[in-house]
Amino acid sequence: MSDVSIVSCTSYDDAEVTEALRRVLEPIGGLDWVVAGMKIAIKANLVSMMKPELAATTHPSLLCALVRLLREKGAEPLIGDSPGGLYNAAVVNRIYHVTGMKQAEAAGAALNQNFESREAEFPDAMVAHQFTYTAYLDDADAIIDFCKLKTHGMMGMSAAAKNMFGVVPGTFKPEYHFRYPNHRDFAKMMLDLNAYFAPKVKLCLADAIVGMEGNGPTQGKPRHLGALLASKSPHALDLACASLIGLTPKDVPTLEVAVESGLIPDDATKLTVHGNLEQFCVSDFDNIHVRRSLQFEGHGKFAAMFVRSALRAEPRPDKKACISCKKCAEICPAHAIVMKNGIPKINKSTCITCFCCQEFCPVGAMKVHRPLIARVLNRRK
Ligand code: SF4
Ligand code: SF4
Repeated sequence: MSDVSIVSCTSYDDAEVTEALRRVLEPIGGLDWVVAGMKIAIKANLVSMMKPELAATTHPSLLCALVRLLREKGAEPLIGDSPGGLYNAAVVNRIYHVTGMKQAEAAGAALNQNFESREAEFPDAMVAHQFTYTAYLDDADAIIDFCKLKTHGMMGMSAAAKNMFGVVPGTFKPEYHFRYPNHRDFAKMMLDLNAYFAPKVKLCLADAIVGMEGNGPTQGKPRHLGALLASKSPHALDLACASLIGLTPKDVPTLEVAVESGLIPDDATKLTVHGNLEQFCVSDFDNIHVRRSLQFEGHGKFAAMFVRSALRAEPRPDKKACISCKKCAEICPAHAIVMKNGIPKINKSTCITCFCCQEFCPVGAMKVHRPLIARVLNRRK
């Protein structure tokens, strides 16, 4: 069986999407694991109250097609997610409405209405030995992780592994950023969440028909890639996704930790792929290079600290675009933002570069800024 399957899908047209979904599933065993009566939670990416054409969320056409396939098998699909911010019926139902989930409901899915939380104990975790998660997942016999391929301010890329951060209720997310301020620890936490739910996650799918480039994961630009991917492993799927947009495990902390943990090879060319990854590669994808793959060992602690700080990406408000809504200041887990004359001012010494402010700015006024030297080095890489 292949590690990853990839097929062409040029649009979100219902007929094309349904056919592509059947084709992409076949090389990884289809939906043979589904039995009648099974409750299947589809963990979509519903990051924010954004319309499907903005390419921030898993497209409803794909979810409708998947729901119909699961219904054909007699399963009971349930769509859920916990975006950042309040996790309650009022907020999440508005998100369902705007992101097109009502279409998936009409196709036969239930939309999760259980907004309770549970506590997990995970002694085998790398870092997240206890965490809080969305209770609706306990009622599911199986989980399908259906992500959207996007750039991400903190993690470089958002795909299958990052999508599972949505199991943490939105109100708790800032606390997790604060608990794991270091990118590697945050990536380890993300891998822990994936490992905890791995026995239930039977399938991972990536909506890379239209991905998001630039100021992702919410305020970037839609970019057509024309691909649909499937895998049993979130990390194999992510390695394939990264290769499509020109990233390597050194650029994406979750992939780097997955390689070190022996979950995936260090290069997408070492995956067994059904389909041709190269056919879908976009050479000029506008990525956020949040980390440098260059190493500075052997140059002394202070030199390494200086270089890291000189290369560090950081949030920076666009004064002209800012509408002074204060949302960034309210959401910042490190309380590093104060409003001054209607513009957010960031305290660099307390900022943990989690990019929550960038992710949740409603008008895309908070940008990921990279120093010139980092941009030059990444261009040369
Ligand atoms: S969230 Fe965006 S628009 Fe609102 S104050 Fe912050 S930067 Fe300005
Ligand atoms: S200023 Fe932005 S990036 Fe820095 S800690 Fe606050 S939310 Fe995170």
